[in-house]
Amino acid sequence: MRAVLHHGPRDIRVETVPDPVLLEPTDAIVRVTLSCICGSDLWPYRRQDAPEHAHRIGHEFLGVVEEVGADVRTLAVGDLVIAPFMYSCGDCEFCRAGLQTSCVRGGFYGSESIGGGQGQVVRVPLADGTLVAAPVGEDDPRLPALLTLSDVMATGHHAAVSAGVGAGSHVVVIGDGAVGLCGVLAAHRLGAERITLLSTHEDRAAIGRRFGATEVIAERGEAAVAAVLERTDGLGAPHVMECVGMQGSWDTAVRIARPGGTIGYVGVPNGVDEGLDLSVLFRRNVTVRGGVAPARAYLPELLADVLDGTIDPSPVFDLELSLEEAPEGYAAMDQRRATKVLLRP
Ligand SMILES: [Zn+2]
Ligand SMILES: [Zn+2]
Repeated sequence: MRAVLHHGPRDIRVETVPDPVLLEPTDAIVRVTLSCICGSDLWPYRRQDAPEHAHRIGHEFLGVVEEVGADVRTLAVGDLVIAPFMYSCGDCEFCRAGLQTSCVRGGFYGSESIGGGQGQVVRVPLADGTLVAAPVGEDDPRLPALLTLSDVMATGHHAAVSAGVGAGSHVVVIGDGAVGLCGVLAAHRLGAERITLLSTHEDRAAIGRRFGATEVIAERGEAAVAAVLERTDGLGAPHVMECVGMQGSWDTAVRIARPGGTIGYVGVPNGVDEGLDLSVLFRRNVTVRGGVAPARAYLPELLADVLDGTIDPSPVFDLELSLEEAPEGYAAMDQRRATKVLLRP
């Protein structure tokens, strides 16, 4: 079968690899119907040092169950399943608490034995605890929307929940990538009344407005902080969603959070070398919550809302390619020619 491998700095190749087989009785073999490239796939892609060995990549996919191990109870061959971006047992202390990302038996895709989501077939460990079946066929037009539940929509939702967004909230969303845009949709879904999106890209701002942003601030850094303060009587926003993970976005988040407010963060920290200004957070009693999103915990409720048409996050995909064209997909996202790339095997 064909799969995407990361070889080194900006070196992505599609190669023939062995077909995965069941290794554990709790495994499922899933034939991928749709996968996509994540903003976090760009971090290894952009690294200057090459990995020791070329490795499989991709962690967002959905597909059809082709084989199940003897101990798999809740899934059957032929089920269309959505894979959260990490696998988890569903049974340990953390899984039962809805924090499947800390599962004591869980882990990430991308190793040789498990494979990556950007491939034609994936061996999914701990299938019962990981995969969520959706009552749709392989040609259902909602598949791209369902694929976002693998990561970006669940992560945007986690940002909104962590920021304490609810009915009538005013929230500022920092980041106009797929996660930030899904964060806007999630905040809207939770009943936020005023959603301010910081976005300097007109095409992304347009998706944000479609998702429920009530205002867009097309500034960065100091100017963005000034614009938020100006629109909030100099006090800042009660809810802030940090969906980038860099020093600059964190500095903005800290400075625009209102006294007593909450910052929900989901951006993978990258170069936040100076850290957070604790004296400001302390003085203003600002809460910081969030982290890696337990997509598996949110999947059932978000799935229901995609199926009944309440939310449609699929507009975050603005480029569709074949799996063979994955290298071009990475380049397009790296050069910001695409927000998020859908891959069809
Ligand atoms: Zn991802
Ligand atoms: Zn677990």
